[in-house]
Amino acid sequence: MLPFFNQEFGNPNSRTHSYGTRAAEAVEEARGHVAKILGASPSDIIFTSGSTEAINLTVFGIARAYREKGNHLITVATEHKAVLYSHRELKSEGFEITVLPVDKDGRISPDDVAKAITPKTILVSVMMANNEIGTIHPIQEIGKICKEKEVLFQCDAVQAVGKMHVDVEKCGIDLVPLSAHKIYGPKGVGALYIRKKNPRIRIQPMIFGGGHEKGMRSGTMNVTGIVGFGEACRLIDQELDREMETLKKMREKFMRTLEKSVSDVQWNGHPTDRIHNNISMSFSGVDGTALVNAVKDDIAISTGATCTSVTVDPSHVLTAIGLSPDLANATLRMGIGRFNTDADLDFAADVIAHAVNKLRKVTRVDMKLAEL
Ligand code: PLP
Repeated sequence: MLPFFNQEFGNPNSRTHSYGTRAAEAVEEARGHVAKILGASPSDIIFTSGSTEAINLTVFGIARAYREKGNHLITVATEHKAVLYSHRELKSEGFEITVLPVDKDGRISPDDVAKAITPKTILVSVMMANNEIGTIHPIQEIGKICKEKEVLFQCDAVQAVGKMHVDVEKCGIDLVPLSAHKIYGPKGVGALYIRKKNPRIRIQPMIFGGGHEKGMRSGTMNVTGIVGFGEACRLIDQELDREMETLKKMREKFMRTLEKSVSDVQWNGHPTDRIHNNISMSFSGVDGTALVNAVKDDIAISTGATCTSVTVDPSHVLTAIGLSPDLANATLRMGIGRFNTDADLDFAADVIAHAVNKLRKVTRVDMKLAEL
């Protein structure tokens, strides 16, 4: 990215000089890398400020462009709030929204999707892998149902790319929002994959102006961010299989280590159909706030979704899989990253075990005192 901060000042849309041409070449190279990790064609990718923007563009853009076909959209209770709140907004504009439930592992049933589709349905949005519990949905089956019923299918792959293989053709996906910073790219840049054929998708733009990105997203492009995003995708393409294997082994070892020193750990999310960087664990008999306070100086930990951790409400994902508000609040979420080692995970297990055992002892003493 560095040359595009301090040497290459060109605007990719100003191709009348070599500065602009070089910037445009860099953007196109990045577009190719992004397309490759989705099994897509570069011309199907448009750059955005991140997946929140890409999701809003899909939900509002499809709702407006296909209004004459219908006014019904389907999504899932455990989606990211960018998806849930854009649907909520559409509801206030008179659209009909179906929010499907998940099972205790956080998976949606393809049959529920099939049953929910009506002649008025224009969009189904189901994420590939969940950001809080790591569960992977049966995307290929849902894609097939949507194709058969001729309904567009958006699949948020923000957490999936870099952690599993994603293929828009194999899965029958029409729209894919992405964020660079979930795959070690810079923050504030992302993309939307929009299928161009079988079917060709129409989207009503949200941002109007100079007609950048085929008129779908006007505004001068964030060249530096896009270059970083492209490079992050190139590395994924090289490293994915090896990283997936390493993450799986590290996660399993962490679980075994923690279970040796703490009883009753509840591991959230699907045991096998999952991405392996994500660890979500709940501890009964512990106060959630006290638990976070006890570990947060030693390890980087989240309680609810990172994006909403300023609020204290129990996570909508954990309550959707059936956790009580108390257990949801006594839940820690940890991500294993590319640069973590086994020693880091042993340390994390040690810190968590120490905190949970100490807090459980306090709770037991409190309960005994209450009985007196
Ligand atoms: N979708 C998922 C699954 C996410 O995890 C996130 C962020 O955490 C988003 C969408 C929103 O991404 P951004 O904040 O980059 O727009």
